[in-house]
Parts: sequence; structure tokens; C-alpha cells
Amino acid sequence: MTSSQTVLVTGGAGYVGSHCVAELLERGFNVVVLDNLRQGHRAAVPAEAAFVEADLADTEALKRTFAEWKFDAVFHFAALSLVGESMRNPHAYLHGNTVTSLNLIQAAVQAGVGKMVFSSTANLFGMPERLPIDEDATIDPGSPYGESKYMIERALHWADRCHGLRSACLRYFNAAGAHPNGLLGEDHYPETHLIPLVLDAAAGKRPHIEIFGDDYPTHDGTCVRDYIHVCDLADAHLRVLPLLEERSVRYNLGNGKGYSVREVIEATERVTGRKVPVKVGPRRAGDPAVLIASSERIRKDLGWEPRFPDLDSIIGGAWAWRQRNPQGYRGPAALAAE
Ligand code: UDP
Repeated sequence: MTSSQTVLVTGGAGYVGSHCVAELLERGFNVVVLDNLRQGHRAAVPAEAAFVEADLADTEALKRTFAEWKFDAVFHFAALSLVGESMRNPHAYLHGNTVTSLNLIQAAVQAGVGKMVFSSTANLFGMPERLPIDEDATIDPGSPYGESKYMIERALHWADRCHGLRSACLRYFNAAGAHPNGLLGEDHYPETHLIPLVLDAAAGKRPHIEIFGDDYPTHDGTCVRDYIHVCDLADAHLRVLPLLEERSVRYNLGNGKGYSVREVIEATERVTGRKVPVKVGPRRAGDPAVLIASSERIRKDLGWEPRFPDLDSIIGGAWAWRQRNPQGYRGPAALAAE
């Protein structure tokens, strides 16, 4: 499928956003990335995409962007996205994520854009009552981060009811891995996610990985998560677009299989051939014991299937990218391009 449509990608210099941009370009879309580069990396945006450095809080910049291009759809990734940080500073999330998203929704409605694909989260489901978690599970966000995403889902619901802006809310479980082209990967500062931290411990860049609690009611006492390849997430974003001609949708996106923190560490040792030093620490606030997705709905509606479901391959891709880019996007190649 190729396209001559033009799309806006907010947060397109970030981890999931940049992988989605790559997928969009590959399928022939004209892409405009808008990013404030606070978390994102300029080097993660390919030259084929137009780039606007702006914050969604800046309504004038938004107006200019929507006046300069006529967008067929908006992909909205830009957000603060750390559960732990949101527990320490709820206002930044409840205010920051929602105000910026409301600005974007308003700008899209005013410009007559009919479709928005929104990056939501499994954190909507807090401490789930049953597993795997499908779209009908009770929503009770686990943190101000999750709550802010839910508030935006509700704003999108009303934007559809009142203005006909169709949306797809995609609730990601644990995004992981790197693009097979070797150019894109996961590079947060500071890094808080398990897989990149375990890889750093394997590479000797960190003295050890700390396991946040080993007294959970799981088979080995450590938390279980559903790790989904970032390119599979990107694929889902594109598949939902035609459906938005008809209606708004919500989908949970995961592999449907859970791995414990210890299993991720073991897989990393297998893949890298290195020993990962481990320390067991206390639980992290807000962590549910188990999060596993049911993605039956999107499989049935759109034939979406994870193309990279295997944990060892997901970790292998992330390892290859980190080996090639030991300083992430701030390595020599990226610095030269700045
Ligand atoms: N985790 C851990 N040590 C770390 C980072 C994460 O034990 O240094 C655990 C965390 O408690 C969770 C899992 O690894 O159970 C995945 O955490 P991550 O932050 O990657 O994603 P989240 O599940 O919070 O979205």
C-alpha cells in the first residue's frame, strides 16, 4: 500500500513515534514531525520528513503548522511518559499532557482534520482484575500518567461526538526492540526502562540491574510484562487509518504473552552471551504484578499480528542497535549531524 497522504506526527523524534515515522515514509506518506526535542532526538527523524521544532503548548506554532500543511491525519505521540515521575509530579502530567493534547485536538478540529491516532497506555488498567486485559477491562489508571492518557481518550471521545474527529486510541503494553534497519532504537534520558537498562548492565555500562521487588505473586516473584516490538506497534498505527473513515476505535496492543523481570534478564544473557549482575531492591510504587494484553480485537478487525513476537529477537534487535550506537543518538554520527 502506498499513499500520497500528508500526516502530522507529534513526538515523531521519540521512541515509538520515530518508528511510526519510518513505517509511514516506507508506505509513501508525506510526513511532518512536530517535536520539542526535550525527550526526542533530531537524529531520529529522517531527512525525508519535514521537521517543526515546537511544543504543543505553543498554540501559535500549532496554528502555523496546520496552516502550512493540509493534513489527512494526525498521529499523536508527544507526551511525558514516565509512570514513576508522574507519581512524584502528578500536576506536570495531569496538566501538561492534557493541555497540550487539547490544543492539538482543537487545532485539528479547526483545520478540518478528520482522523487522529493516539498513543495510549496499558497503565489505564492499573491493577487488573483479570488477565489477559481486553478493551472491556475496568479502567482505573495506575498513575497520573495513565490518568492523563485516559483524560485525553475522553477528550477524543467528545471530539468525535461533537466535531466528527475520528480517533484510534492504542493502548501499548511494553514497547521494546529496535528497527531492523539499524537506524532507530530506544534512547531515553534518563533511561528507566527495563530492557535498555539490562542491556547496559550486560555491556558493563552499569554495575548491575536492580530488580524492583521479587515478592510479587508471580512464578518467580518478579513482575510480569507483555513486551511488544516497537515496529509491530507502528504497523498497528497504519492499519487503523482506513477504519477511521467509518468510526473511532480503541485497541490494546501486546503479544499476549508475559515475561518476568528475571526472564528478561535470562534472555539478555542468552542473546548477548554476557553475564548480567543483578541486585534485588524494593518494589517500585505503582507497579502491578502482571500486565498481559489481549489483542484479539485488533487481530479480528484488522488482521494485525505481531511480526516480531519472540522475546530473544526483540532483545537481540535492541542489543544490536546499542552495540552500533553506544551513546545512542548522541554518538559521533548524530553529533556531526547537529
Ligand atoms: N524494572 C526493574 N528494574 C529496573 C526497571 C524496571 O525491575 O531498573 C521492572 C519494573 O518494575 C517493571 C518491569 O521491569 O515490572 C518493566 O518496567 P519498565 O519501566 O520497563 O516498563 P513499565 O512496565 O513500567 O511500563
